[in-house]
Amino acid sequence: MLTKREITEKALELGFADVGFTTAEPFTSQQEILEERKESYGWTLAGGLDLAGGTDPRNALPEAKSVIVLLESYLEKAYPPALEGHFGRCYLDDDRVTKDGMTKRLGLFREFLKQEGIASRVPFNAPQRLAAARAGLGDFGKNNFLYAHRVAGHSSWVVPLPVIVDGEFTPDPPSVAVGCPEWCRNACIAACPTQAIRGPNRLEPKRCIAFLTYFGRGLTPPELREPMGLWVYGCDRCQNVCPRNTSWMAQERPINERVTAKAGSFDLSCLIKMDREFFLNRVWPHMFYMSDKDLWRWHMNAARAMGNTRDDRYIPALASALRENTDERVRAMAAWALGRIGGVTARKTLEMHLLKEDGVVKTEVRSALDNMPQARLEEKQALPGINGQDHSK
Ligand code: SF4
Ligand code: SF4
Repeated sequence: MLTKREITEKALELGFADVGFTTAEPFTSQQEILEERKESYGWTLAGGLDLAGGTDPRNALPEAKSVIVLLESYLEKAYPPALEGHFGRCYLDDDRVTKDGMTKRLGLFREFLKQEGIASRVPFNAPQRLAAARAGLGDFGKNNFLYAHRVAGHSSWVVPLPVIVDGEFTPDPPSVAVGCPEWCRNACIAACPTQAIRGPNRLEPKRCIAFLTYFGRGLTPPELREPMGLWVYGCDRCQNVCPRNTSWMAQERPINERVTAKAGSFDLSCLIKMDREFFLNRVWPHMFYMSDKDLWRWHMNAARAMGNTRDDRYIPALASALRENTDERVRAMAAWALGRIGGVTARKTLEMHLLKEDGVVKTEVRSALDNMPQARLEEKQALPGINGQDHSK
């Protein structure tokens, strides 16, 4: 039978940052939370994710005796800043579909166990962060993320991967606790734009921007559009502001070439107009929580993010979306975004559409015109060449 040391050495050799061991006992504290907060987490079961079932390792492997938790550190190389502003970092190099990175290494690890007579399962519904804390790999922030004890600069930029096995190993001392410094005035809670963190370690998942970007229903409500900011898929804000992450984020690191190579496909101007073929070939293999039936949500998220940049360069793309997209949720958001950017060109575009639209799109066009920042309009009109008068003389 393999020793813990041999298993750890193999995992590190395969590129995992850290390894911990815990028992296969059920995660009862997680069971209690899920039971107590059915209202917040009930949607997961309807969506095919049985979180309660994942709290008992023996549901995945009846002979389970231990859980080996591998820790993947995903901010070892630098991502293009343009991507970091729109996508959660954990999704930028996600290979669960392409299986050419971490997933491949996980497969090799399991193959190594198998050759030594150890059966394993990696259920997607296991409580990953709690498993890691129970295996002594880190503790929690009040934002609910796991903060590594020994690697990744003690930061939260790690993904725990619980591997349930039928071999028995001595568990490591658990570290299930909140490890935030006293002096931090709950920066993560204050910074969450949608008040999804209701209090220390109390997340309301349906208010989280990550959930809203990939599972939000219908046209994003007006009161969430500005708070959701530039995020298109996921959100890192409560980790970005955390002082426990500052040191690791300040490190100089080499660029992640894999992610840089695909960055062009994730430009907002591509996303707002991508068709099914582009989506399936370029986007879905990397970010797959939405299917091709949800293309409208990608378009809508890109339009909302464009509006929140308040950058004139997106006006042509938004005007095209308002004119050509066949989904009224996208056209409605494009109207909102044009209004948010403001200026003469955006106003003219909206005025033109006011006459030909109806329903929700017309409502959004009218609202965008009514709420367009007046100062921005005047500033544009005062620019030389815009209205035929040169005020610089
Ligand atoms: S990921 Fe974003 S929206 Fe979700 S809790 Fe953190 S800051 Fe709030
Ligand atoms: S921001 Fe402060 S309270 Fe929130 S996780 Fe970081 S250290 Fe803890």
